[in-house]
Amino acid sequence: MAYLGNAARTKEVLAKYNMSAKKKFGQNFLIDSHVLEGIVEAAGVTENDCVLEIGPGIGSLTQYLCEAAGKVMAVEIDKTLIPVLADTLSEYRNVTVINEDILKVDLDTIVAENGGKPIKVVANLPYYITTPIIMKLFESGAKIESITVMVQKEVADRMAAGPGNKDYGSLSLAVGYYAEANTVMDVPPSSFIPQPGVGSAVVNLVRYTEPRVTVKDEKYLFEIVRTSFNQRRKTLSNSLSNNPSLGVSRDQVQEALVKMGVDEKARGEILTLEQFAELSDILQR
Ligand code: SAM
Repeated sequence: MAYLGNAARTKEVLAKYNMSAKKKFGQNFLIDSHVLEGIVEAAGVTENDCVLEIGPGIGSLTQYLCEAAGKVMAVEIDKTLIPVLADTLSEYRNVTVINEDILKVDLDTIVAENGGKPIKVVANLPYYITTPIIMKLFESGAKIESITVMVQKEVADRMAAGPGNKDYGSLSLAVGYYAEANTVMDVPPSSFIPQPGVGSAVVNLVRYTEPRVTVKDEKYLFEIVRTSFNQRRKTLSNSLSNNPSLGVSRDQVQEALVKMGVDEKARGEILTLEQFAELSDILQR
């Protein structure tokens, strides 16, 4: 089987199965071998690795992963792609295709397949559920060493942004709590069939062994973060005191900020994760 990572082979496979890409599943197939090689390289996949691929599609990235990894577990929601994958991956003995919604998969069973050792996640993600997938990967607590994924360029920018940057927000803080985020490469629409309406980028998220900050209550911290960025232009004291589930007054927020050495009129966009953690612990008292 020749590699699929080009336009001609991709069209050939789709025609053979009388298929076209399904928008509802976010299907945009990669047709650029440089990008495919770049993803596998950025993920640092070696024969000692077990890789979870989310959404193998017709198997373009899967082929490269099978060449580089010890084992590949590929989870695909679209059942019509399962016979296609059986065909395009027929040469490889180190791949298991699972016909399931990734949001419903028990990640611990995948890690168990690797003898309980941490796995790597590599994917060209379906853009309509990027954030739920990333948050599931982190929040499940499953042993995941790194996540190397193609996402919308705008989402990559939000993940990697720091305080003061226009893209900084709750996604930057949620990702930054669990992992170090780096954008590896920008990818144009012409690298896919069909072409997405937006630019794309590959991000590499390397998980910290422990979260970057310790807080008394993780849920309370993230409620503060979400509330702070729901109304970006409001001061922290206004937005946080407007959310009854946090149970804090305007004065209490201002006092906490002053105690932290931060301007009492500050907005969320200038606070670091460490400062949000400190604020969360003070306000929860
Ligand atoms: N990996 C292929 C490639 O690079 O050419 C396809 C990538 S395409 C952007 C996203 C893939 O994710 C599609 O195959 C789609 O069917 C699959 N998908 C969408 N939602 C999914 C879900 N909830 N669980 C698992 N796979 C999903």
